Amino acid sequence: MEDRYAKLHKHFLIIMLMATALILVLLVVQYYLLIRVDARYAGISQSSYMQTYVIVPTLIFAVSYIVVWQLLDSPNVEAQWKDLATILYLWVMCTVGCFVVAEASVLYGSFAVPIALSTVYGRKWMCRATEILCGVTLAQYVGTAPLFPTCSENVTVDVCTGMFLLVLCCLCNEILMEYVLDNDGAIRSHLSDNSKLTNRLQRDPMTSLYNHTAFYEYLDDFVKNRDDDPLTLAVVDIDDFKKVNDTYGHNNGDEVILNLSRVLQRNCGEDNYVCRYGGEEFAVIFPDVKVKEAARMMNNALEEFRETKYDWTENRITFSCGIFQLSSYTMTAEEFFRVADKMLYNAKHNGKNRCVSG
Ligand code: GH3
Ligand code: MG
Ligand code: MG
Repeated sequence: MEDRYAKLHKHFLIIMLMATALILVLLVVQYYLLIRVDARYAGISQSSYMQTYVIVPTLIFAVSYIVVWQLLDSPNVEAQWKDLATILYLWVMCTVGCFVVAEASVLYGSFAVPIALSTVYGRKWMCRATEILCGVTLAQYVGTAPLFPTCSENVTVDVCTGMFLLVLCCLCNEILMEYVLDNDGAIRSHLSDNSKLTNRLQRDPMTSLYNHTAFYEYLDDFVKNRDDDPLTLAVVDIDDFKKVNDTYGHNNGDEVILNLSRVLQRNCGEDNYVCRYGGEEFAVIFPDVKVKEAARMMNNALEEFRETKYDWTENRITFSCGIFQLSSYTMTAEEFFRVADKMLYNAKHNGKNRCVSG
Protein backbone atom coordinates (compact mmCIF):
# COMPACT_ATOMS: atom_id res chain seq x y z
CA MET A 1 0.00 0.00 0.00
CA GLU A 2 1.25 3.48 -0.80
CA ASP A 3 2.50 5.77 1.98
CA ARG A 4 -0.69 7.86 2.34
CA TYR A 5 0.48 9.48 5.54
CA ALA A 6 3.92 10.63 4.37
CA LYS A 7 2.99 14.28 5.04
CA LEU A 8 1.56 13.45 8.46
CA HIS A 9 4.78 11.57 9.31
CA LYS A 10 6.87 14.60 8.34
CA HIS A 11 4.79 16.85 10.59
CA PHE A 12 4.87 14.17 13.30
CA LEU A 13 8.68 14.27 13.42
CA ILE A 14 8.70 18.07 13.79
CA ILE A 15 5.92 18.17 16.41
CA MET A 16 7.44 15.32 18.42
CA LEU A 17 10.85 17.00 18.43
CA MET A 18 9.28 20.15 19.86
CA ALA A 19 7.02 18.24 22.29
CA THR A 20 9.92 16.12 23.56
CA ALA A 21 12.14 19.17 24.04
CA LEU A 22 9.30 20.92 25.92
CA ILE A 23 8.78 17.92 28.22
CA LEU A 24 12.49 17.82 29.06
CA VAL A 25 12.54 21.55 29.82
CA LEU A 26 9.45 21.14 32.01
CA LEU A 27 11.15 18.31 33.90
CA VAL A 28 14.09 20.54 34.77
CA VAL A 29 11.80 23.45 35.68
CA GLN A 30 9.65 21.08 37.74
CA TYR A 31 12.62 20.17 39.87
CA TYR A 32 13.53 23.72 40.76
CA LEU A 33 9.91 24.75 41.37
CA LEU A 34 8.56 21.71 43.19
CA ILE A 35 11.55 20.81 45.30
CA ARG A 36 10.77 23.85 47.49
CA VAL A 37 7.08 23.08 48.04
CA ASP A 38 6.50 19.34 47.53
CA ALA A 39 7.53 17.04 50.38
CA ARG A 40 7.90 14.10 47.98
CA TYR A 41 11.00 15.77 46.53
CA ALA A 42 12.65 16.52 49.82
CA GLY A 43 14.69 13.36 49.91
CA ILE A 44 15.92 13.44 46.31
CA SER A 45 19.31 14.94 45.62
CA GLN A 46 19.73 17.12 42.57
CA SER A 47 22.05 14.67 40.83
CA SER A 48 19.80 11.65 41.40
CA TYR A 49 16.77 13.66 40.20
CA MET A 50 18.60 14.73 37.06
CA GLN A 51 19.73 11.20 36.38
CA THR A 52 16.34 9.52 36.87
CA TYR A 53 14.01 12.22 35.62
CA VAL A 54 16.04 14.05 32.97
CA ILE A 55 19.04 12.10 31.66
CA VAL A 56 17.39 8.66 31.39
CA PRO A 57 14.21 10.02 29.72
CA THR A 58 16.39 12.13 27.38
CA LEU A 59 18.30 9.03 26.31
CA ILE A 60 15.12 6.99 25.83
CA PHE A 61 13.49 9.79 23.82
CA ALA A 62 16.62 10.40 21.73
CA VAL A 63 17.14 6.73 20.81
CA SER A 64 13.41 6.21 20.05
CA TYR A 65 13.29 9.42 18.01
CA ILE A 66 16.30 8.44 15.89
CA VAL A 67 14.88 4.95 15.26
CA VAL A 68 11.46 6.36 14.24
CA TRP A 69 13.10 9.05 12.10
CA GLN A 70 15.19 6.44 10.23
CA LEU A 71 12.16 4.20 9.72
CA LEU A 72 10.01 7.05 8.38
CA ASP A 73 12.82 8.17 6.10
CA SER A 74 13.49 4.75 4.61
CA PRO A 75 11.92 3.99 1.21
CA ASN A 76 12.21 0.26 1.92
CA VAL A 77 9.94 0.21 4.96
CA GLU A 78 6.27 -0.61 4.30
CA ALA A 79 3.77 2.17 5.03
CA GLN A 80 2.01 0.23 7.81
CA TRP A 81 5.25 -0.20 9.81
CA LYS A 82 5.92 3.53 9.51
CA ASP A 83 2.44 4.22 10.88
CA LEU A 84 3.06 1.77 13.73
CA ALA A 85 6.40 3.43 14.53
CA THR A 86 4.71 6.78 15.15
CA ILE A 87 2.16 5.17 17.47
CA LEU A 88 4.93 3.38 19.39
CA TYR A 89 6.86 6.62 19.80
CA LEU A 90 3.79 8.24 21.36
CA TRP A 91 3.42 5.19 23.61
CA VAL A 92 7.06 5.55 24.73
CA MET A 93 6.44 9.23 25.49
CA CYS A 94 3.32 8.44 27.53
CA THR A 95 5.00 5.58 29.39
CA VAL A 96 8.09 7.59 30.30
CA GLY A 97 6.02 10.70 30.99
CA CYS A 98 3.75 8.89 33.46
CA PHE A 99 6.75 7.71 35.47
CA VAL A 100 8.72 10.89 35.60
CA VAL A 101 6.22 13.68 35.98
CA ALA A 102 5.34 14.27 39.59
CA GLU A 103 1.57 14.41 39.18
CA ALA A 104 1.65 11.27 37.07
CA SER A 105 -2.04 10.56 37.60
CA VAL A 106 -2.89 13.49 35.32
CA LEU A 107 -0.89 11.83 32.56
CA TYR A 108 -2.60 8.43 32.75
CA GLY A 109 -5.20 9.75 30.32
CA SER A 110 -2.48 10.61 27.79
CA PHE A 111 -2.60 7.03 26.45
CA ALA A 112 -5.69 8.19 24.54
CA VAL A 113 -3.33 10.00 22.14
CA PRO A 114 -1.61 6.92 20.59
CA ILE A 115 -5.01 5.20 20.45
CA ALA A 116 -6.52 8.19 18.60
CA LEU A 117 -3.61 8.18 16.13
CA SER A 118 -4.18 4.47 15.45
CA THR A 119 -7.80 5.32 14.49
CA VAL A 120 -6.55 7.89 11.97
CA TYR A 121 -4.53 5.20 10.19
CA GLY A 122 -7.71 3.14 9.77
CA ARG A 123 -6.26 -0.33 10.38
CA LYS A 124 -8.27 -2.44 12.80
CA TRP A 125 -5.37 -4.66 13.89
CA MET A 126 -3.20 -1.66 14.67
CA CYS A 127 -6.01 -0.07 16.66
CA ARG A 128 -6.57 -3.25 18.73
CA ALA A 129 -2.83 -3.70 19.33
CA THR A 130 -2.50 -0.07 20.51
CA GLU A 131 -5.51 -0.38 22.84
CA ILE A 132 -4.11 -3.57 24.40
CA LEU A 133 -0.58 -2.15 24.71
CA CYS A 134 -1.78 1.06 26.37
CA GLY A 135 -4.19 -0.82 28.67
CA VAL A 136 -1.49 -3.23 29.86
CA THR A 137 1.03 -0.39 30.36
CA LEU A 138 -1.47 1.54 32.42
CA ALA A 139 -2.43 -1.48 34.54
CA GLN A 140 1.17 -2.21 35.47
CA TYR A 141 1.52 1.23 37.07
CA VAL A 142 -0.40 -0.07 40.08
CA GLY A 143 2.61 -2.24 40.91
CA THR A 144 5.51 -0.19 39.62
CA ALA A 145 4.61 3.49 40.10
CA PRO A 146 4.99 3.39 43.91
CA LEU A 147 8.70 2.59 43.38
CA PHE A 148 9.08 6.19 42.23
CA PRO A 149 9.14 8.77 45.00
CA THR A 150 7.20 11.26 42.88
CA CYS A 151 4.27 8.85 42.51
CA SER A 152 0.92 10.15 43.72
CA GLU A 153 -0.31 8.70 47.01
CA ASN A 154 -3.35 6.89 45.75
CA VAL A 155 -2.02 5.31 42.60
CA THR A 156 -4.69 2.55 42.40
CA VAL A 157 -7.52 5.09 42.24
CA ASP A 158 -5.53 7.15 39.71
CA VAL A 159 -4.88 4.11 37.52
CA CYS A 160 -8.58 3.12 37.71
CA THR A 161 -9.55 6.65 36.62
CA GLY A 162 -7.00 6.38 33.79
CA MET A 163 -8.43 2.97 32.83
CA PHE A 164 -11.95 4.36 32.77
CA LEU A 165 -10.79 7.13 30.41
CA LEU A 166 -9.04 4.56 28.27
CA VAL A 167 -12.14 2.36 27.97
CA LEU A 168 -14.17 5.45 26.96
CA CYS A 169 -11.52 6.28 24.38
CA CYS A 170 -11.63 2.70 23.00
CA LEU A 171 -15.43 2.89 22.67
CA CYS A 172 -15.18 6.19 20.77
CA ASN A 173 -12.50 4.53 18.68
CA GLU A 174 -14.85 1.71 17.66
CA ILE A 175 -17.42 4.21 16.35
CA LEU A 176 -14.85 6.45 14.65
CA MET A 177 -13.13 3.44 13.06
CA GLU A 178 -16.37 2.51 11.24
CA TYR A 179 -16.48 6.00 9.73
CA VAL A 180 -12.79 5.95 8.83
CA LEU A 181 -13.15 2.56 7.11
CA ASP A 182 -16.33 3.66 5.27
CA ASN A 183 -14.61 6.83 4.06
CA ASP A 184 -11.53 4.85 3.10
CA GLY A 185 -13.63 2.45 1.03
CA ALA A 186 -15.44 5.32 -0.69
CA ILE A 187 -12.16 7.12 -1.48
CA ARG A 188 -10.58 3.95 -2.83
CA SER A 189 -13.53 3.15 -5.06
CA HIS A 190 -13.57 6.74 -6.38
CA LEU A 191 -9.85 6.59 -7.09
CA SER A 192 -10.22 3.30 -8.90
CA ASP A 193 -13.20 4.61 -10.96
CA ASN A 194 -11.20 7.72 -11.73
CA SER A 195 -8.16 5.83 -12.94
CA LYS A 196 -10.37 3.50 -15.05
CA LEU A 197 -12.05 6.53 -16.59
CA THR A 198 -8.74 8.29 -17.28
CA ASN A 199 -7.43 5.11 -18.86
CA ARG A 200 -10.55 4.83 -21.05
CA LEU A 201 -10.23 8.47 -22.12
CA GLN A 202 -6.61 7.94 -23.12
CA ARG A 203 -7.05 4.73 -25.09
CA ASP A 204 -8.22 3.92 -28.58
CA PRO A 205 -11.03 1.34 -28.16
CA MET A 206 -10.02 -0.72 -31.20
CA THR A 207 -6.30 -1.25 -30.50
CA SER A 208 -6.03 -0.14 -26.83
CA LEU A 209 -3.10 2.06 -27.86
CA TYR A 210 -2.88 5.69 -26.70
CA ASN A 211 -5.34 7.74 -28.74
CA HIS A 212 -5.03 11.08 -30.54
CA THR A 213 -5.58 13.18 -27.38
CA ALA A 214 -3.17 11.16 -25.23
CA PHE A 215 -0.52 11.26 -27.97
CA TYR A 216 -0.47 15.06 -28.18
CA GLU A 217 -0.62 15.42 -24.39
CA TYR A 218 2.34 13.08 -23.86
CA LEU A 219 4.33 14.64 -26.70
CA ASP A 220 3.74 18.13 -25.31
CA ASP A 221 4.65 16.96 -21.82
CA PHE A 222 7.88 15.30 -22.91
CA VAL A 223 8.94 18.28 -25.04
CA LYS A 224 8.18 20.80 -22.28
CA ASN A 225 9.89 18.80 -19.53
CA ARG A 226 12.84 17.52 -21.52
CA ASP A 227 16.30 17.34 -19.98
CA ASP A 228 19.58 16.17 -21.46
CA ASP A 229 18.15 12.73 -22.30
CA PRO A 230 17.38 12.10 -25.97
CA LEU A 231 13.75 12.37 -27.11
CA THR A 232 12.82 10.67 -30.38
CA LEU A 233 9.56 10.47 -32.30
CA ALA A 234 8.53 8.03 -35.01
CA VAL A 235 5.42 8.56 -37.17
CA VAL A 236 3.98 5.70 -39.19
CA ASP A 237 1.44 5.54 -42.03
CA ILE A 238 0.27 2.35 -43.74
CA ASP A 239 1.09 2.31 -47.46
CA ASP A 240 -1.76 2.34 -50.02
CA PHE A 241 -4.27 1.58 -47.33
CA LYS A 242 -7.19 2.99 -49.31
CA LYS A 243 -6.56 0.26 -51.86
CA VAL A 244 -6.64 -2.40 -49.11
CA ASN A 245 -10.01 -1.13 -47.93
CA ASP A 246 -11.41 -0.77 -51.45
CA THR A 247 -10.22 -4.19 -52.62
CA TYR A 248 -10.65 -6.39 -49.53
CA GLY A 249 -13.19 -4.48 -47.45
CA HIS A 250 -13.14 -2.39 -44.32
CA ASN A 251 -13.11 -5.38 -41.93
CA ASN A 252 -9.93 -6.75 -43.44
CA GLY A 253 -8.51 -3.22 -43.29
CA ASP A 254 -9.25 -3.24 -39.55
CA GLU A 255 -7.36 -6.52 -39.22
CA VAL A 256 -4.29 -4.82 -40.73
CA ILE A 257 -4.58 -1.91 -38.27
CA LEU A 258 -4.85 -4.34 -35.34
CA ASN A 259 -1.86 -6.30 -36.62
CA LEU A 260 0.24 -3.14 -36.92
CA SER A 261 -0.67 -2.09 -33.38
CA ARG A 262 0.58 -5.43 -32.03
CA VAL A 263 3.73 -5.39 -34.17
CA LEU A 264 4.61 -1.91 -32.91
CA GLN A 265 4.00 -2.89 -29.28
CA ARG A 266 6.17 -5.98 -29.67
CA ASN A 267 9.07 -4.12 -31.26
CA CYS A 268 9.16 -0.72 -29.56
CA GLY A 269 9.99 -1.60 -25.95
CA GLU A 270 7.84 -1.25 -22.83
CA ASP A 271 9.11 2.18 -21.81
CA ASN A 272 8.04 3.84 -25.05
CA TYR A 273 4.62 5.22 -25.98
CA VAL A 274 2.89 3.56 -28.92
CA CYS A 275 -0.07 5.67 -30.09
CA ARG A 276 -2.74 5.51 -32.80
CA TYR A 277 -3.20 9.19 -33.46
CA GLY A 278 -5.25 8.79 -36.66
CA GLY A 279 -7.15 6.12 -38.61
CA GLU A 280 -4.15 4.28 -40.05
CA GLU A 281 -1.56 6.63 -38.60
CA PHE A 282 0.56 5.64 -35.66
CA ALA A 283 3.30 7.29 -33.65
CA VAL A 284 5.85 6.13 -31.12
CA ILE A 285 7.38 8.48 -28.54
CA PHE A 286 10.77 7.30 -27.32
CA PRO A 287 11.50 9.35 -24.18
CA ASP A 288 15.04 8.11 -23.60
CA VAL A 289 16.16 6.59 -26.91
CA LYS A 290 18.52 7.97 -29.56
CA VAL A 291 17.42 8.13 -33.19
CA LYS A 292 19.68 5.24 -34.21
CA GLU A 293 18.17 2.85 -31.66
CA ALA A 294 14.63 4.03 -32.50
CA ALA A 295 15.35 3.44 -36.22
CA ARG A 296 16.54 -0.08 -35.42
CA MET A 297 13.29 -0.85 -33.56
CA MET A 298 11.11 0.67 -36.30
CA ASN A 299 12.95 -1.27 -39.03
CA ASN A 300 12.39 -4.49 -37.07
CA ALA A 301 8.69 -3.58 -36.80
CA LEU A 302 8.52 -2.88 -40.55
CA GLU A 303 10.16 -6.22 -41.30
CA GLU A 304 7.68 -8.12 -39.10
CA PHE A 305 4.68 -6.18 -40.46
CA ARG A 306 5.77 -6.71 -44.07
CA GLU A 307 6.17 -10.44 -43.48
CA THR A 308 2.65 -10.87 -42.06
CA LYS A 309 0.50 -13.17 -44.20
CA TYR A 310 -3.24 -12.48 -44.35
CA ASP A 311 -5.85 -15.09 -45.31
CA TRP A 312 -7.49 -12.78 -47.82
CA THR A 313 -4.49 -11.63 -49.91
CA GLU A 314 -1.19 -12.80 -51.24
CA ASN A 315 0.07 -9.20 -51.34
CA ARG A 316 2.41 -7.84 -48.71
CA ILE A 317 1.25 -4.75 -46.83
CA THR A 318 3.87 -2.26 -45.73
CA PHE A 319 4.20 1.04 -43.92
CA SER A 320 6.34 4.14 -44.18
CA CYS A 321 7.95 5.79 -41.20
CA GLY A 322 9.64 9.08 -40.34
CA ILE A 323 11.94 9.22 -37.32
CA PHE A 324 13.40 12.33 -35.76
CA GLN A 325 15.33 13.08 -32.57
CA LEU A 326 14.57 16.41 -30.92
CA SER A 327 17.55 18.59 -31.67
CA SER A 328 16.73 22.10 -30.56
CA TYR A 329 15.82 23.31 -27.09
CA THR A 330 13.51 25.92 -28.58
CA MET A 331 11.48 23.46 -30.65
CA THR A 332 7.80 23.08 -29.68
CA ALA A 333 5.86 19.79 -29.76
CA GLU A 334 4.11 20.85 -32.98
CA GLU A 335 7.42 21.69 -34.68
CA PHE A 336 8.89 18.39 -33.48
CA PHE A 337 5.93 16.49 -34.92
CA ARG A 338 6.08 18.46 -38.18
CA VAL A 339 9.75 17.52 -38.74
CA ALA A 340 9.08 13.83 -38.05
CA ASP A 341 6.07 14.02 -40.41
CA LYS A 342 8.34 15.58 -43.04
CA MET A 343 10.60 12.49 -42.73
CA LEU A 344 7.50 10.32 -43.23
CA TYR A 345 6.67 12.33 -46.36
CA ASN A 346 10.23 11.69 -47.61
CA ALA A 347 9.78 7.96 -46.97
CA LYS A 348 6.52 7.99 -48.99
CA HIS A 349 8.14 10.08 -51.72
CA ASN A 350 11.13 7.73 -52.00
CA GLY A 351 9.02 4.65 -52.71
CA LYS A 352 7.28 3.83 -49.36
CA ASN A 353 8.00 0.60 -47.37
CA ARG A 354 10.88 2.25 -45.53
CA CYS A 355 11.96 4.24 -42.49
CA VAL A 356 13.64 7.61 -42.98
CA SER A 357 15.36 9.21 -40.02
CA GLY A 358 17.05 12.53 -39.46
P1 GH3 B 1 -0.42 6.38 -48.69
O1 GH3 B 1 0.43 5.22 -49.00
O2 GH3 B 1 0.01 7.62 -49.38
O3 GH3 B 1 -0.57 6.57 -47.22
O4 GH3 B 1 -1.84 6.03 -49.28
P2 GH3 B 1 -3.12 5.63 -48.49
O5 GH3 B 1 -4.04 4.96 -49.43
O6 GH3 B 1 -2.77 4.85 -47.30
O7 GH3 B 1 -3.67 7.01 -48.13
P3 GH3 B 1 -4.09 7.52 -46.73
O8 GH3 B 1 -3.03 7.29 -45.77
O9 GH3 B 1 -4.58 8.92 -46.88
O10 GH3 B 1 -5.32 6.55 -46.45
C1 GH3 B 1 -6.09 6.61 -45.34
C2 GH3 B 1 -7.17 5.56 -45.43
O11 GH3 B 1 -7.28 4.87 -44.19
C3 GH3 B 1 -8.50 6.19 -45.71
C4 GH3 B 1 -9.46 5.49 -44.75
O12 GH3 B 1 -10.48 4.87 -45.45
C5 GH3 B 1 -8.63 4.45 -44.09
N1 GH3 B 1 -8.93 4.31 -42.68
C6 GH3 B 1 -8.84 5.25 -41.73
N2 GH3 B 1 -9.22 4.73 -40.52
C7 GH3 B 1 -9.60 3.45 -40.74
C8 GH3 B 1 -10.07 2.40 -39.90
O13 GH3 B 1 -10.25 2.52 -38.71
N3 GH3 B 1 -10.33 1.19 -40.48
C9 GH3 B 1 -10.14 0.99 -41.81
N4 GH3 B 1 -10.40 -0.20 -42.31
N5 GH3 B 1 -9.70 1.97 -42.60
C10 GH3 B 1 -9.42 3.17 -42.11
MG1 MG C 1 -2.79 8.33 -43.78
MG1 MG D 1 -1.62 5.58 -45.70
